[in-house]
Amino acid sequence: MLPMPARPLFSILFFAALLPLSLLAQAPAPPAIILHAAHLLNVEKASLISPGEILINGNHIAAVGTTVPHPPGARVIDLGPLTLMPGLIDAHVHLFLHPAPDENLQTVDESVPERTITATLQARADLLAGFTAERDMGTEGAGSADTAVRDAINSGEIPGPRLRITGNAISITGGHEDALGFNPALHIPGNATYADSTDQLIHVIRTQIKQGADMIKIYQTGHDRMVNGMLVAPYQYTEAQLAAAVAEAHRLRTEVGVHCTTEPAALYAAQAGVASIDHALYLSAETEALMKQKQIFAVPTLTIFEYFAAHAPNAAAAAREQAFFDFHTAQFRKQVAAGVPMAVGSDVGPFPHGTQAREFVLMNKYGMPAADVLRADLINGARLLMWPDQIGQLKPGFYADIIAIDGDPLADISAVTRVKFVMKNGVIYKSQDKIQPEGAQP
Ligand SMILES: [Zn+2]
Repeated sequence: MLPMPARPLFSILFFAALLPLSLLAQAPAPPAIILHAAHLLNVEKASLISPGEILINGNHIAAVGTTVPHPPGARVIDLGPLTLMPGLIDAHVHLFLHPAPDENLQTVDESVPERTITATLQARADLLAGFTAERDMGTEGAGSADTAVRDAINSGEIPGPRLRITGNAISITGGHEDALGFNPALHIPGNATYADSTDQLIHVIRTQIKQGADMIKIYQTGHDRMVNGMLVAPYQYTEAQLAAAVAEAHRLRTEVGVHCTTEPAALYAAQAGVASIDHALYLSAETEALMKQKQIFAVPTLTIFEYFAAHAPNAAAAAREQAFFDFHTAQFRKQVAAGVPMAVGSDVGPFPHGTQAREFVLMNKYGMPAADVLRADLINGARLLMWPDQIGQLKPGFYADIIAIDGDPLADISAVTRVKFVMKNGVIYKSQDKIQPEGAQP
C-alpha cells in the first residue's frame, strides 16, 4: 500500500491549490493581543509585579512586564484588578469519569461513545476553571477514546486543555481495576488493560502508543487497607518489570507514571525510573531519597481522598476513607519536609470536573507554602507533562496559556479557585471584561 499523506496536510494542500496566489500572500496575521491587569505572577521568583502586561502574537507570548510594546492595531484587554498568571496544570485527571455511586460501573453502564461525549464536556469545564494543560491518567475502560478527544481539542473543534493522554491504564490480572467480585460467567470488563509479564507489558505499551497515547500509566499497587495505622497494599510489578516498561517508554521518547500508594511498590517504581508516583500515600526514606536524586515527582491527589471521605455511602465507608485521608495528609507533611519533588494533580473525575483547584488549597493547608504549591504545579507540572520551557510560566516564547484570577495566590492560594479569564494557545475562552481597540476611549 502506498503511504498516504496525513489528512490535515492533504486538506491544506488541496484548498491552497484553489486559492489565487495573491490571496495567499495577503492572508493577514491575527492582531496582537495585549493583556493588562493590576498584577502579574512571576512563578519562579514567587513575586507579583504591578501592574502587569503581556503581549501575545498568535499562540505565543512575545513580551511580559509592567508595560510591553503596543503594536498598531493590537487589541487591548483590560482585566482591571485581576492577577495574570500562567494557566493551571492538572497532572492527574480522568476526563472519562464523572461522579457516580460506583465509578467502576461506568464501564458497565455507559457506552464508550456516551463516555466520550461526557469527556468532551468535562474537558471544557476544566479549561473554563483555568486548567490549560492536563495529563489524563487513564480512560478507565474506554480504551484509546482519549485520542479522539485530544485531537479534537488540538484541531480547535472543541474547547479543552492541552492534553497528554495515557489511553487505558495498565494493570495485572486480579489487580487494581479488574472488576473484582462479579459473577465470572458475566465477563464484566475491567477498567484497565492487563499485562502480567514483561513481554505483555511491552506489547501493551506499543499498542497504546500506536493508538495515540502520549504517555504510559501503570497501576503499581492493588487494594489498599489500613493495618495498625499503616497503609498496606500489594505491589503489582517487580522492579525489573517496571524497568523494562520504562525502557520501552524511553525508546518511544515518553515516560511512565504509576498509581502507587505505598511500599515496597513505590521503591520499585523509583528504582525503575518512572516519571511520577501518583497518590504516594506512603514513601519510605529510601524512596524519598531516590525521588530527590532522580527528580521523580510525587503527585499527592489529596482532593479525591477528601471527597471520598465526605461522600461515602455509609458510616463504615466514611470512617475507612477518613482514615486514608488522615494518614495521607500526615505523610504529605513529612514528604514536604523531606523535600520530595512534587507536582499537582487532583484525580478529578470521580468528583466534579472544574472544581479541582481545591488541590492547591489542600496542599497549602497540609504544609506546603503557597509559593511552592504554585511552583510544583506550574514549573514541575510543565516538566512532568513534557512541555518544559513551553508552558507554566509567563515568558517570551512560551505558549500563550494565561489566566487571570481574583486575588494574590501567594497571600491566599484559594485565589486560583476564582478564575475570571482564560486564554489557551492565544485563544480567549473565558472573559468577563470589555475588549477595546488600542487607543479607543473606555
Ligand atoms: Zn486516577
